Formats: sequence, structure tokens, C-alpha cells
Amino acid sequence: MKPAPFAYHRPFDLDDVVDLLAEYDGEAKILAGGQSLTPMLALRLAYFDNLIDISRLPELQGIERRGDVLRIGAGTTHAAVGADAGARAAVPLLSQVTPFIGHFQIRNRGTFGGAVAHADPAGEYPLVALTLDASMEAASKSGTRMIPATDFFAGLWETALAPDEVLTAVEIPLWRGRCGYGFHEFARRYGDFAIAGAAVAVQLADDGRVQRASIGLMGLGSTPLRATAAEQLVTGAPAADLDADEIGRSAMTGLDDVPADLQGSPAYRTRVGAAMVARAWADATIAADLKETVDA
Ligand SMILES: Cc1cc2nc3c(=O)[nH]c(=O)nc-3n(C[C@H](O)[C@H](O)[C@H](O)COP(=O)(O)OP(=O)(O)OC[C@H]3O[C@@H](n4cnc5c(N)ncnc54)[C@H](O)[C@@H]3O)c2cc1C
Repeated sequence: MKPAPFAYHRPFDLDDVVDLLAEYDGEAKILAGGQSLTPMLALRLAYFDNLIDISRLPELQGIERRGDVLRIGAGTTHAAVGADAGARAAVPLLSQVTPFIGHFQIRNRGTFGGAVAHADPAGEYPLVALTLDASMEAASKSGTRMIPATDFFAGLWETALAPDEVLTAVEIPLWRGRCGYGFHEFARRYGDFAIAGAAVAVQLADDGRVQRASIGLMGLGSTPLRATAAEQLVTGAPAADLDADEIGRSAMTGLDDVPADLQGSPAYRTRVGAAMVARAWADATIAADLKETVDA
């Protein structure tokens, strides 16, 4: 199928983008890498009078350390995020998840901001944003504001962005000390959206206790989720005494919106989710232990 007709706008700076968004007052949609929006338009699952192409805006490109955060421009491609040595060192989860996003053609075109703004509950970058308590920078004609990840993901493919706002960057706080990260997902074929997956960040104290833990879930609700019960279970406990399978089961408690589709029932997804948490936990704690050895 072909998309319904639309007007195409290609502004050259951010001021023009926010002017256009204000001018069209909810009747315009941002086009970034087009890897999610274009198929939706072509299948006529969505229709917009105006598309505002932000793919060539230099202000939205790039990755930089700013104090205690890693700042990723919304227009930075998945491929650039995955290949960036600074990003890998500062937020290892980014390079861990990137190879799982679609195929290389999609990663060459798709943008970090596009994936976050699209807010697919099985998307890898929304998962990282929520797990690591990222903040999203949104710009409109009235200025900019930061939106914490816990407020940003509002529902299936829904975010807290207003119709006149564009996502300009994502800021991810850095974890310090004896930290490790793990990520696992399960999909039937390489490149497919995951049936379920999990990301774990863990910080160990000198005595081996879990000082801090974040456990994020994908594909197990209408948004990415945090497994707060499991986070509470592990925090303060000696990591060596914890059972990864028990953490996986704990992470599945309280899930009341697990999707059912041709890929699997809620019960199946929940079993897969528990296994992904257990594996991600094991990897994260091993990485945190190794970090001590390397730092010593
Ligand atoms: C075959 C296939 C497999 C895929 N597999 C995966 C996968 O496994 N995991 C995964 O996470 N993704 C997957 N994707 C989606 C891919 O990652 C997309 O690139 C991404 O979701 C959207 O990024 P984009 O830059 O292409 O955004 P677009 O498609 O251009 O836009 C997507 C949505 O976000 C909005 N948007 C984009 N940028 C902004 C912005 N800066 N501010 C405000 N709104 C904005 C658009 O208006 C639109 O609603 C897959 C896509 C395909 C075609």
C-alpha cells in the first residue's frame, strides 16, 4: 500500500521545527529515521497532514559526557550509538542492547530519539532509558523541559510528549563504582521484536552486598517496566547469597498487563521474562565482580 497524501517539511534548524509544530497545532508528525513511522503510514495505520523531517538537523546529532550524565542527541542513529566508544564505556548497556535492534539497515537509519519517542514496550532503548532513570529533553516554542523516564512512557506507543514538542536529547545518569550490567531478550528470529527481555544494572558494595539495583522489563506490559519488588528483594543482600531464578520469579510479581498475541500467551511471556531476568542478573553481577578485579 501507499501512504495517504501528506505535506513534507524539511526544516534546517530546531527553531524551525518548533515553529512548524506550533503552526500546525497537533496536525504534524515528526519524521526521524522513518523505520517505524513509514511502515505505519504505508499500511495506513496512521495518517498525518504534515510530516516534519528532522533527520538532517545537526543540533540533534552526537553523544557527549556532560558531568554525571551521558547525553545522546535524539537524531543519533542506533548504529552510531552502538559504535561509540565513549557511550560503551559510560553506559555499557547501550552497546549490549544495540545489536538486538532489528537489522543493520534499520540501525543505520533508525534514531535513538525515534526509538524512545516511538515507545514500543519491546523496544531496547526505551528499556535502557527506564532501567537507568534517563531524562528526556523536550523542546517546544515555549522552551525546553526534562521529563523523567518514569513519567515519559505513558502507554502503548504513547509518551508524555505534547503534540507541539520534539524530543531533542536523552540524558542517562552514569553509575559509578563496582557496577555491572546485563541484558537478555528472547525473540523467535534474530531481528524480531523480543517476546520478553530484561536489563539489569547492579552496584556492589566493598563487602559484596548489593548497594543498588535496577531491573527493567520489556515486552511484559504496554510500556517498559521496572521490577520494583525484585529490586527491593536484592538491595542490601550479599550478592553471593542471591538466587538468580528467585530474582526472575520475583520480577514477574504484580504484572497485570502482559500482552497476549500470536507470539505467546501472558503465561508463556512471563516464564520467558523470568528466565531473561535471571540471566541478565547473573551477567550483571559477574561483570560487577570482574570490575573489582580490573580496578584493583
Ligand atoms: C523490520 C523492523 C524491525 C525492527 N526491530 C526493532 C527492534 O527489535 N527493537 C526496536 O526497538 N525497534 C525495532 N524497530 C524499530 C526501529 O528501531 C526504529 O528505528 C525506531 O523505533 C524508530 O526510530 P526512527 O528514527 O526510525 O523513528 P520514526 O520511524 O521516524 O518515528 C517513530 C515515531 O517517533 C516519533 N519521533 C521520532 N523522532 C522524534 C523526536 N525526536 N521527537 C518526537 N517524536 C519523534 C515519530 O513522530 C513517530 O511517531 C524495527 C523496525 C523494523 C522496520
